[in-house]
Amino acid sequence: MKNYKYFCNVKENADFTKKNCQFCGSNNNCLEGVYFEQDNVESICLECFDLKKAVVDIPEYIIKRVGFDYAKVEELASNPPIPWVQSNDWQVCCNDYMQYIGEWGQENFRENSNNENAIAFFEKNLDEDTLNKVDDINVLWEDLGYNTVAYVFKCNVCGKMKVVCQSY
Ligand SMILES: [Zn+2]
Ligand SMILES: [Zn+2]
Repeated sequence: MKNYKYFCNVKENADFTKKNCQFCGSNNNCLEGVYFEQDNVESICLECFDLKKAVVDIPEYIIKRVGFDYAKVEELASNPPIPWVQSNDWQVCCNDYMQYIGEWGQENFRENSNNENAIAFFEKNLDEDTLNKVDDINVLWEDLGYNTVAYVFKCNVCGKMKVVCQSY
């Protein structure tokens, strides 16, 4: 399977559907049809996706985040989308899109915190929007794996992390 610049470990992190690919009929690694530019896409296999038979819709405010650098935008549109409800809120660092590295639970934060307090490590890496919505970091932390999902990004350039939380 191809390595994507902005999406780490597709097999593990992408959202696959059992529906056959609308373009070639294949049942192999079909991405769920959310966030594609064409409205009627319900399933596309990675092979067709890599041939750009459909691309991911990148909202204007995400394009703005890299200063309307369309080479980067085009590349992001050919990386699998992150299966979440909110608009495709891709994070940016070092003037480029960050790489999505997956959904993390408390364990993952503990393992990666280098003996620092895991909650402090989690809070330190939260994106601004999430941070602004937090009343009590402990409540959000305890909700991880229940109604809250943490999506983690890593900068390809400086290695910095950013965490976006969605509560359902
Ligand atoms: Zn296909
Ligand atoms: Zn960076």
